[in-house]
Amino acid sequence: MQRGLPAKRPIKDVKKVIAVSSAKGGVGKSTIAVNLALSLARQGHRTGILDTDIFGPSIPTLLNLVGQEPRLSEDNTLLPLTNYGIPSMSIGYLIPPTSPIIWRGAMVQKSLMQLLHTVSWGPPGLDVLVLDLPPGTGDVQLTITQQIVLDGAVVVSTPQDIALIDAVRGVGMFEKVDVPVLGMVQNMSHFYCPNCSTVTSLFGAGGVAKKCAELGLRLLGDIPLDARICADADRGMPTVVAEPENERAKAFHGIAKEV
Ligand code: ADP
Repeated sequence: MQRGLPAKRPIKDVKKVIAVSSAKGGVGKSTIAVNLALSLARQGHRTGILDTDIFGPSIPTLLNLVGQEPRLSEDNTLLPLTNYGIPSMSIGYLIPPTSPIIWRGAMVQKSLMQLLHTVSWGPPGLDVLVLDLPPGTGDVQLTITQQIVLDGAVVVSTPQDIALIDAVRGVGMFEKVDVPVLGMVQNMSHFYCPNCSTVTSLFGAGGVAKKCAELGLRLLGDIPLDARICADADRGMPTVVAEPENERAKAFHGIAKEV
């Protein structure tokens, strides 16, 4: 255990914690995390999302909560902000979007501990808390696995070799710290051109599925590269909320059924 940190303990008022991770940035981890949380909520699970990406918090934008500030409860815990039925917490709610976050390790550690242990998820509490992890396999990931009980991890990757190499490292990290890997999600798998109706596998075909077969992991879902998923993210209305019954949203619902 890292020196000076308290022992591992569960997150108060939370039954199950699932981490969504990627070893590489920009592969769609936050997009998957937020849509997964919303799909779980649609399936009747009380679900929240905790953004642990200290240097690049995306959840305020994805949930259209930029500029909102959380209130403190009577016992000085942070009250989550809720939109689309899911409570959320992020460092992005505590620091203005225009302020750069230039922190050394100790400060990152302190904020992370605050996010993990001083947020009020209850009453009535959550069935599932989805953690949006920062990319990589460093300090933050290590602290999280040492500080809280993680029930499982979902590893997101594009099918490209350069992303998969790092994704395999991510899977290895969770195995090393005894966190069950629930499976992988293939994101940006193919692109359907609305103009000429051709389908292109921009990042190669089926790379994540092949890697899952090699590693004995489940492929939890396959999300196409689609400009509407990107536009939904930018306007703060994730695909599962924007068009809950379309094929793109169904791909996210499928992941929620698997985890
Ligand atoms: P990460 O959390 O891995 O850094 P993000 O979820 O922030 O990745 O996604 C990176 C960028 O890619 C964002 O602009 C997002 O809107 C876009 N994006 C993610 N998944 C898709 C997809 N399936 N189709 C189109 N754009 C996507």
